[in-house]
Amino acid sequence: MNILIIGSSAAGIEAAGMIVSADKSHNVTIASEDSVLPYYRFKLADFLFSKACENGFYFKDQTFFDKNKIKLLLGKKAISLDTRRKRVKLDDNGYLDFDRLLVATGANCVLPDIKGINKKNVYGLRSFSDVEEIKKNLPVSDTIFLVGNEAYLQDMASNLSSQGKEVFLITQNNELLNNIKQSDNLRFVLDDEISEIIGESQVQAVKLKSGKVFACSLLIYNGNFSPNISLLKGSPVDLSDNGVIVDENMRTNLDFIFAAGDVVANETISNRTWENALKQGRKAGLAIVL
Ligand SMILES: Cc1cc2nc3c(=O)[nH]c(=O)nc-3n(C[C@H](O)[C@H](O)[C@H](O)COP(=O)(O)OP(=O)(O)OC[C@H]3O[C@@H](n4cnc5c(N)ncnc54)[C@H](O)[C@@H]3O)c2cc1C
Repeated sequence: MNILIIGSSAAGIEAAGMIVSADKSHNVTIASEDSVLPYYRFKLADFLFSKACENGFYFKDQTFFDKNKIKLLLGKKAISLDTRRKRVKLDDNGYLDFDRLLVATGANCVLPDIKGINKKNVYGLRSFSDVEEIKKNLPVSDTIFLVGNEAYLQDMASNLSSQGKEVFLITQNNELLNNIKQSDNLRFVLDDEISEIIGESQVQAVKLKSGKVFACSLLIYNGNFSPNISLLKGSPVDLSDNGVIVDENMRTNLDFIFAAGDVVANETISNRTWENALKQGRKAGLAIVL
């Protein structure tokens, strides 16, 4: 059986591992938009301050794929699905045929719809390439705004301010203030938000709802969650705004198509964590070969 997995992160890789440990006779192919070997997405913020190969950033090396005869295709974006011919079209115009398909495309972060949001040096943080871009700009960015409520922003703010950057952390999460090393060049904004991003082609200042304006050379948003379902749009696979609809075995309404991880919609089984994506990947892998 030809098994195609789209996505090379927690859910996709865990499913592939489960498939090959259950039955080695299947041809397993993983196609991923990621250009590098699978990495711990929750360590992306650490990678801003270290080389990728340090601190156990990658969670599978090439040996895993070679040993298990899993074909890993990196830098390939799946753009459409033909359920009748059972094949996926890639952004290089190539096609991948399958008997069973697992969609493990995760989620993306969507930036808020405010004036100036498309200016250069405004980033969300979701992928390796986001971090690479931010890293390129860090040395020439003196004033950095971080926006969001996630815990990783706390470390990022501390790290950047200890490098001498002027850092503003805009958050509604009071807890981020706890245990953070206070410094003169780190400021918290708790009861305000950005209403406009000012600059020619690149961000030069931000305007807050309160009317205050601050210089800014780099802006990093945690962003809103949005499942990566564009591949399935227009196909007969059932979707909701929140992602792909699956049953308890991660099977969609089409019995040869499965989904797992952050891309899945169901409120009851999705809490969008690394652990949950692993769990769903294992479930999907098993259901695919049964
Ligand atoms: C900055 C950050 C910090 C986080 N911190 C934590 C934490 O502390 N604890 C925790 O539990 N969780 C954390 N998370 C969430 C956790 O990383 C996710 O829940 C988990 O990565 C979901 O795994 P996944 O396999 O479903 O999808 P993802 O990890 O999103 O991977 C999706 C994969 O699909 C690929 N892909 C997407 N679209 C396509 C396409 N069209 N064609 C081909 N390939 C495609 C991507 O390249 C990627 O390989 C964090 C996430 C981020 C971004």
